[in-house]
Amino acid sequence: MKPEPVFPKYEGYLSDESHLPGRADAIVFPENAAELSEAMRQAARDGTRVTVQGARTGLAGGAVPQGGLIVSLTRMNEAPELAWSGACAHLHAQAGVTLEQIEAEAASCGLFFPPDPTEGTATIGGAYATGASGMGGLRFGRMSRFVEGLSWVTPPGEIWRVGRGEYRFDDTGCMLPDGRLLKGSLAGMGAGCDLIDFLCGSEGRLGVAADFRLRLLPEHAQRWGVVFFFPDDGAALAFARRLYGRLESQPEPLFACEYFNHCALGLIAAGGESGDPRAALPAFPKSARAALYAELRGDDAAALESMLMALLELLAGAGGSGEDTWAQNGPGVKKLRKMRHRLAEAIHSRPGAREGGMRLNACFSAAPERFAECLDAYRKGLAQSGLDGALYGHLFENRLHVSLHARGENERESCVELLRGFAGVAERFGGLRAPEYGEGKLPRPWDDTASRRRREERMRALAAFFDPSGLMGG
Ligand SMILES: Cc1cc2nc3c(=O)[nH]c(=O)nc-3n(C[C@H](O)[C@H](O)[C@H](O)COP(=O)(O)OP(=O)(O)OC[C@H]3O[C@@H](n4cnc5c(N)ncnc54)[C@H](O)[C@@H]3O)c2cc1C
Repeated sequence: MKPEPVFPKYEGYLSDESHLPGRADAIVFPENAAELSEAMRQAARDGTRVTVQGARTGLAGGAVPQGGLIVSLTRMNEAPELAWSGACAHLHAQAGVTLEQIEAEAASCGLFFPPDPTEGTATIGGAYATGASGMGGLRFGRMSRFVEGLSWVTPPGEIWRVGRGEYRFDDTGCMLPDGRLLKGSLAGMGAGCDLIDFLCGSEGRLGVAADFRLRLLPEHAQRWGVVFFFPDDGAALAFARRLYGRLESQPEPLFACEYFNHCALGLIAAGGESGDPRAALPAFPKSARAALYAELRGDDAAALESMLMALLELLAGAGGSGEDTWAQNGPGVKKLRKMRHRLAEAIHSRPGAREGGMRLNACFSAAPERFAECLDAYRKGLAQSGLDGALYGHLFENRLHVSLHARGENERESCVELLRGFAGVAERFGGLRAPEYGEGKLPRPWDDTASRRRREERMRALAAFFDPSGLMGG
């Protein structure tokens, strides 16, 4: 395993899905933790800057090198292996294994990996490093909860084997495998937190995940996917509020609940890049100006069906119509949930900087009790600006994506202003810009919020602790 020149064979490795341009002198493809450790040691000896790459599906530019060496983990992708301990199933996967591979391996044994970011070609290493999440986050929370163990290669090339529960923070901090104390105040972690959860989301700045032991769950016997369409956002939100009330007494079967405004529906209807006719959706109802996708999962078919009926009653009460509702069970669910991915594809295939356009994407959270006000402020802001913006996201997790597309310099300024206002709204309503796809290196001229500055300061201090030579992250 020797570093190779980037040009001409590996030119494509100079960017990712953010389309940020990059540069690098060399690239190396380790095939296991030992080779990865050796590559890191060599880089540390030479004082070479390192950028870690998974599948480069990242949208924030974290995998885009700014000089030095690219460490691509795409060849660390041996077939994942399933192991049982009693009734618990675990999957051993190298960092370069894709989410699709994991899903297929799990499904072949009637299991699933609950974190479900929609981009199946992403690697498990990249998903962990960005703290990726998907629709299942509503039921299952952060992806790191399903990581039971990992091998972590430090910036100087040491290999740590970390099992869940073995390295926990106490009142002062966490004693690391190298014997140093990572203070809880520096890490932002309280007593009881696990090192595995802390390292998740560190975006290749504090070290490299080499392989994982993942926890899988038994697949539910029954699934329903339902798309509810509404004549306006008000009706969609009225329905969501009723649903929320209902779920407080019966949260279990709801796996996902995603909202789409009219612009998002337009982008889905126009189609993403997949072009697979089997994935084609029927035409949306003509009157649809907003939609909610809800997914129910459970083992009791009768209980799910009665929940479905209850949802249709709530819908009628909120001014929606059962006739404009799509419901699928079993394999048909896959097609409906593709809606969300088609939207992401459509958004990220709109003309970018190289084609004279600009994509501006952000994700904002809000305190649960202020979420409706927050959403209302975004809707009004969009309407007043006259800009065409897609608003979509995880309704019950109080997180929303805003996706704007500028076609020229004037529109770009208006988009930046609008997003700056939205970032302020999120902070006022107890939330922040959620770094859903990671902080990466993408410039965000509209975000000068205090929460962003705090995050950056913390990451700089952590990088100085883990990587004093300052070689990681490109
Ligand atoms: C159409 C589309 C849909 C998407 N949908 C979602 C979604 O639903 N949810 C979501 O969260 N994201 C989504 N994404 C974004 C992207 O897929 C995720 O951020 C993904 O986790 C990145 O994985 P990757 O292997 O491509 O990593 P890369 O893009 O190669 O790297 C991402 C970051 O992780 C670091 N990194 C990579 N591997 C490692 C490692 N082993 N150890 C340490 N650091 C590492 C890199 O340095 C970089 O900072 C989507 C992207 C596209 C294009």
